[in-house]
This record gives sequence, structure tokens and C-alpha cells, in this order.
Amino acid sequence: MLIIDCPYCGKRPEIEFSYGGEAHIARPLDPAALNDEEWAAFLYARTNPKGLHAERWRHARGCGRFFNAVRDTVSDFFVTTYKTGEARPDATKKASA
Ligand SMILES: [Zn+2]
Repeated sequence: MLIIDCPYCGKRPEIEFSYGGEAHIARPLDPAALNDEEWAAFLYARTNPKGLHAERWRHARGCGRFFNAVRDTVSDFFVTTYKTGEARPDATKKASA
């Protein structure tokens, strides 16, 4: 079983969590100013890296809070987790440790 480290509660089994998509996607400051192509890109265009990926997760069956995680999409290993609003940590150091 995969163990995910909630930054608020600590380590819990993966069945308590739900995936929330890519992290650090900022809503446009003036959505009405976007054309259809720009709006579609905001809604649907996401990176799909092979390797480290910053993601939003929610501890749905625990504290209920959203947080961010850096996960290696190749190994499915969670490199680090951090609270929403915090800057993405340099996970490359932790990945090689
Ligand atoms: Zn939690």
C-alpha cells in the first residue's frame, strides 16, 4: 500500500486521499479578457512529465485539506508533500537522496 505524508496529519494510507490535478495552476486575473483558445488552455492544457510532477492532493477521508506533492510519475514515489500556498521545494535533491 502506498503511504502519503499529509503535511497536516502525517503519514496515512493512499485510500484516504484523492488526486486534485496539477499544482500551481493560477486562475487568470481577468478571465473575461481571455479569448476562447486561452481559456481552453487554462482549463485543459496540463503538463504530462515523465519524472517529477507537482500535484494537488486532498486528504478527503482525513482532515479534508488540500496540499501539494511532488511525485515521480515513473516510480509513483512521493518525493515530498507541502502545504498549499508554499513554494514548490527543490525536490530533485530529495529524489536522489
Ligand atoms: Zn490530513
